Amino acid sequence: MTESSSDALIEALRKAVSRTSMLAEGNDPELDSVVRNIRQSIAKGADAEAIQDVLNNAEPLLIKNDEARDNRAKQVRETMHELVDLLEKQDNLKVPQNEKKNLEAQVRSHWQTPSQWPALLHAYLQLADHTLNQAPSDAAPKSSFFQRLFNKRSDEQKDSKNDQEIMQQISHTLAGLINNLSLPSDFDDDIVDLRKALLGNQDLQQLPSLLDEVINLIMATIGNTQEGLANYLNQLNKQLASINSSVVSNYKNQKNLSESREGFDSSLQQQVADTSAAAQSADNLESLKSLIADRMSTISSTMTEYRTQMHEQEKQATQSISQLRNKVVRMEKDSTSLRTLLKEKLAQAMTDALTDLPNRAAYQDAILPLCRVMQSSKKPLCLAVCDIDHFKKVNDTWGHLAGDKVLRLVPKQIRSALDKEDLIFRYGGEEFVIVFPNTNMEQAEKRSEAIRQQVEKTPFNMNGEPVSISVSIGISQLQANDEPETLFSKADKQLYSAKETGRNKVMSDK
Ligand code: GH3
Ligand code: MG
Ligand code: MG
Repeated sequence: MTESSSDALIEALRKAVSRTSMLAEGNDPELDSVVRNIRQSIAKGADAEAIQDVLNNAEPLLIKNDEARDNRAKQVRETMHELVDLLEKQDNLKVPQNEKKNLEAQVRSHWQTPSQWPALLHAYLQLADHTLNQAPSDAAPKSSFFQRLFNKRSDEQKDSKNDQEIMQQISHTLAGLINNLSLPSDFDDDIVDLRKALLGNQDLQQLPSLLDEVINLIMATIGNTQEGLANYLNQLNKQLASINSSVVSNYKNQKNLSESREGFDSSLQQQVADTSAAAQSADNLESLKSLIADRMSTISSTMTEYRTQMHEQEKQATQSISQLRNKVVRMEKDSTSLRTLLKEKLAQAMTDALTDLPNRAAYQDAILPLCRVMQSSKKPLCLAVCDIDHFKKVNDTWGHLAGDKVLRLVPKQIRSALDKEDLIFRYGGEEFVIVFPNTNMEQAEKRSEAIRQQVEKTPFNMNGEPVSISVSIGISQLQANDEPETLFSKADKQLYSAKETGRNKVMSDK
């Protein structure tokens, strides 16, 4: 391998490990610290043995993480069964058996696939609605379960009361599930809200959409990306298996061909030997003539048979070769579209859905090469960590949607104060990282101060009221020996000081 291709390989491996470790992060604090260790060792260019050591440390934790995922799926499966049992236990109700069996089959095949959980819960809600909405044999058909819950008429009071009790039990079981899923702490607030909504039981018509919301949250955190990759690998694997079986059958055909050629050779030899033996023992010309005619016709029919056989087998071989060729062409086509899909998935995994900014994984990918280029060309580079002040209050006062709106608008204001070359990432929550290449501390401070002022002076419209927001920013400058982690933690320390000393401030480590 040439030096540059081995460099490229190492670079690709470094990216892959760094990206994979991002996927593992956020699930378990113990694992997080190991994962950070791995990234740091790789960034420092540690030798293979040292990297192997940290990877070995990570293994038991990754296994534990897998187990947690497995337990979560089991929890979902059990809850689905409990929910169905709840309906079955109601004396006055009949659960539509076909629909119930369908749902149970669906649970059996999909309980381990998080992306299918919303579908399972939807199917359950439908089963509940159909069960509760069934007309008793001696009465006129009733209105829908949800309609009955909300438009109670006096003669339906009793039914509705019963329905509401069942619904309460269902909500309770679902709230229990959400509690037991042990989601990352980022979602604590959402989970509290959702549990409140479920247990409060005020607006039951919202139940399906509330459920969707939380399940989508779960999916966003546990492995959408892994699923995409797994699907891709699965498809590739199937195609390879099919190519392999074509190759095997081709090989068998070839083998048949050479076997029948050998068979033909030996039977022809045998016939020639027989003929010459018979000719030796023939005592007159007449019998010799008829013997030879006889033998010739046997030989000729053997040859015809052989030719037909060869012809048939050649036809089969040609057919299977052309099938193989078609398969390869199809696979090439598929793999091109899969590659495009994978590229899209990777781009998706590198982009934050709310703000459309490159996310933390993208930052991890970009920062090391940027630092190295700047260090080797002895050019300055600065990094700023920018965090919205008292953002929790925005959520608490104006709601999560208003919070999201602020998260989409602030990066626009940041951008307006930056140079074209500067990069913004959504590092997490309400925290943005700005990288200033070819920029010294004085210039970075100036631009950061412009960001601070721009955010401060822009009123945000919250339900028609102007509300002001501020940000705190910490900056650091890359030194010759700095690793990306050092650069970041220096800026983070400055951010912390800015928060400690009153917020709405820019502080730097000069
Ligand atoms: P400080 O000035 O010290 O930074 O206080 P803070 O309230 O901004 O910081 P804190 O870390 O206590 O709260 C951050 C909040 O940001 C908590 C979390 O619910 C919220 N948050 C994180 N991501 C999102 C999001 O995507 N949308 C919304 N609406 N809120 C989010
Ligand atoms: Mg904040
Ligand atoms: Mg923060």
